[in-house]
Amino acid sequence: MRLSRRKFLSGTGVAASALSLNYAHPVQGGDDSYRVWEDLMRTKWTWDKVAHSSHGVNCAGHCAFKVFVKNGIVWREEQQGEYGATEDAPDYNPRGCQKGVRHSKYMYGKQRVLYPLKRVGERGEGQWQRISWDQACDEIADKYIDHWLSSGPASMSFAMGTAMLLKKATIAGYQRFLNLTGIPAPETFAGVGDQPIGIYQTLGLDITGDTVAAVYKAKCVLVWFCNPAVTRIPDAHFFWEARYNGTKVIVISPDFNPSAMHASKWVNPKPGSDGALAMAMAQVILKDKSYDTDYIKEQTDLPMLVRTDNGKFLHPKDLGKAGGNEIYYLWDEASNGIQQAPGKDRETIELGALQPSLEGTWNIDTNSGPLAVTTVFELLKKRAEEHTPEVTAAITGISPEVIREIARDFASAKPAMIYGGFRSAKWLYGDIFQRAMLLLLSLTGNLGNEGGGYQLTQLSKSDGIAPYLFSDIGYGMRIKAAAMWDYEHMDLKEVNRKFYGDELADTYDEHYQESLDKGWWPRQKEKPLKMAIFGGHNPGSWKAGGDHWAENIYEKVETIVSIIPDMGITHLYADYVLPVAHHYERHDLLVQPKTPYLQAMDKVVEPLGESVDDFTVFKRLSKVISKKAKERGIQPIMDTFVDGRPPIERDLTKLYDQLTWGGKFNDSKDIAEFLINASPGLPRITFDELAAKGIVRVEDSEGVVYGDNAPYATMKQYVEHKKHYETHTGRQQHYHDHDWYIKYDETLPGHKDPLELEGYPLRMLMGHARHSIHSSWRDDTFLWSLQRGEPDIYVNPNDAKDRGVADGDLIKIFNTMGSFIAVAHISSSMQQGMMFMYHGWDPTMFRNQKNFSSVITTAGLIRPTLLAGGADTHLGYAPIKSFPNMTLSDCTCDFELHAESNEQKTA
Ligand code: SF4
Repeated sequence: MRLSRRKFLSGTGVAASALSLNYAHPVQGGDDSYRVWEDLMRTKWTWDKVAHSSHGVNCAGHCAFKVFVKNGIVWREEQQGEYGATEDAPDYNPRGCQKGVRHSKYMYGKQRVLYPLKRVGERGEGQWQRISWDQACDEIADKYIDHWLSSGPASMSFAMGTAMLLKKATIAGYQRFLNLTGIPAPETFAGVGDQPIGIYQTLGLDITGDTVAAVYKAKCVLVWFCNPAVTRIPDAHFFWEARYNGTKVIVISPDFNPSAMHASKWVNPKPGSDGALAMAMAQVILKDKSYDTDYIKEQTDLPMLVRTDNGKFLHPKDLGKAGGNEIYYLWDEASNGIQQAPGKDRETIELGALQPSLEGTWNIDTNSGPLAVTTVFELLKKRAEEHTPEVTAAITGISPEVIREIARDFASAKPAMIYGGFRSAKWLYGDIFQRAMLLLLSLTGNLGNEGGGYQLTQLSKSDGIAPYLFSDIGYGMRIKAAAMWDYEHMDLKEVNRKFYGDELADTYDEHYQESLDKGWWPRQKEKPLKMAIFGGHNPGSWKAGGDHWAENIYEKVETIVSIIPDMGITHLYADYVLPVAHHYERHDLLVQPKTPYLQAMDKVVEPLGESVDDFTVFKRLSKVISKKAKERGIQPIMDTFVDGRPPIERDLTKLYDQLTWGGKFNDSKDIAEFLINASPGLPRITFDELAAKGIVRVEDSEGVVYGDNAPYATMKQYVEHKKHYETHTGRQQHYHDHDWYIKYDETLPGHKDPLELEGYPLRMLMGHARHSIHSSWRDDTFLWSLQRGEPDIYVNPNDAKDRGVADGDLIKIFNTMGSFIAVAHISSSMQQGMMFMYHGWDPTMFRNQKNFSSVITTAGLIRPTLLAGGADTHLGYAPIKSFPNMTLSDCTCDFELHAESNEQKTA
């Protein structure tokens, strides 16, 4: 008997994930016969073609892979290994991780959605009817038009996962659809608590980062809120190779994480005390006078003058002079008087003949009498004295000697870098942590230097995407701040009241409403939500206040549509699930600054089942919407915006033509090619040429910091070219004199205790996992076999002992909000009083479908200062650049042994 490979696998169970191949599309051509299992091995190293691709998830890896195909099926992949190097740093090879080399199996797994599905049972029951694409588009288009007619486009939402943001052609297609339809898009970056607001507050930038090879150039790297051995697998070797180059790698993390074991030093502050630690380091640098005087005089607001009576910057009106508040002053030693500071009003921030004082207090004569002024630097020194190493030791648990040692290690190294993780942003005071870290870099003159800086990542310059998105109707998107969107749609004020008390709930809400009233931020909720579309997005898995979120979405929204390759909890509650192609089944581009390469995602095989790429979904939907709009005689509308933009006309009858530019864009390959040609810094080649090579180096990328003509912005423009920063002072701005910053003592970085729930002593922290990229691949059984095989949570041995818990026991983690069950993973890498859970485990993997989000009480925590705005600050509404984060870390829990019957265990 001769078997096809798929029948062979099904019959032998050789690969569990391959069992699902029996619903794949028919294989075309080729000799696919196998007689006995040995044949599988004999033919293992033969293939029909090798193509180039990668994985379009939010790992920021964009690793180049060769993908081996036989009989229309992907058999295996391997790292392409053809990267070069940058300067004298080690090369970028090999890039990859265990998820990537597992993908050829996972893509054929049982979690794949293969056909359009329509819910036939109750939401969440998992009862589906397979329907045709025609039926799915027909019914969804009708619902779309009905909601449009009854409540307008603002009554719908289209939320995308971070995996969508990395695939350039896919996100362009999504955004074109959003721009044309006006459906609100609650953005994802701050929505998952990743927005580095401190960077925007200090530098006016959304994010900063160079190539990962820059790590090799650093002489000291503080790895802070970050665990690269686990989360940056393709990049981590640079850290360890740098140590051979003399670099001190200092890991700052409350737990002894896998990166700490490779570090030169490990420093373990108490969770949430990082701002205090950074300020104590700043105090040492200031006391030692080891700061870079020339740099801070030119690049920062530290020499700028502030009134001592009210803490406000000195402006012309204070001196009875003409001029607005964009004018700032400094004390010039050369003329022994006040002079206007070169800032945003000038071509350059170069000081010229000016010699600003950093230290001093002066009485100046004004029309209204004498006025005392001092510098931001003086105020910073006072603030730092509140955080001496001795004072800070009690807050952080780090001895004063160690604080002094790492501060001096950092200040004496040139260049020095902070490799920051996104985890800092998930704290209520995360922006203050970031401001404090930026202060250290700023004081030591390390922002903008090769091998220095605050390294997160970057997005490529968006110029290429804009002509595609806005070509005809202009900017029509409704990008919403997701945390505020939730706050307004889900009455999160009352959630704050329940868990954090009346005072906090009312104070936060009063400021929230005042900000809206003053027009600092636009209202995010325009209409009650009727229809929610989730594209590559599984928010039911990770939203803070998960149960509250679920009730508001699953029980109240009339129509839910999911567009996804793999099943997850959110999609179980959808009314329609539309299948989309996996990584090797679509054309796309990956552009990430970690390496200086443009990466192709080639369509290596046809999509499984009836899945199609996302752009095809929009095309199909738009075509039916346009057809029905014509049949129903739907007239164009003038759509108005709450943020003051002029109204634009939307015409559903033209949607399909507009989406495709009259047929110019037929698939994501067309979009990818357009983007290559329209984006600065990308090589001008066709998609096919790119796919043949897999990777192509981007322009102006010879250094570890990108050049001016590269696809990424750098801080060179400020530090080398002396352009002003996009902050209100035009410089690195460490001081904010907004009334709310003064009121809440946040004018300068400092320390504030993280919030906790009374009676619940243990802080649960979370982080990116080794065996998944967020929720992607989290349900892969092979990857389970490399860990505990089910969701586990790390706990300290003493905490476990106090509660009678042994390693491997089931425990219930609980607080006033709810509970979930997980396996206790007892580890002395945890401090007493903390727990740690690697994230991404879907609720479907937990008992009662309750995961960690059932105890995260922080969904409504939006601090007043994050909603500050007005004419005299660059803070305020800044779509994409700065939105308030979803807070995730400021809650506490407890745990106890969870006993369950044998029946329950096997259920
Ligand atoms: Fe690289 Fe990301 Fe793929 Fe892993 S999942 S191999 S890090 S692209």
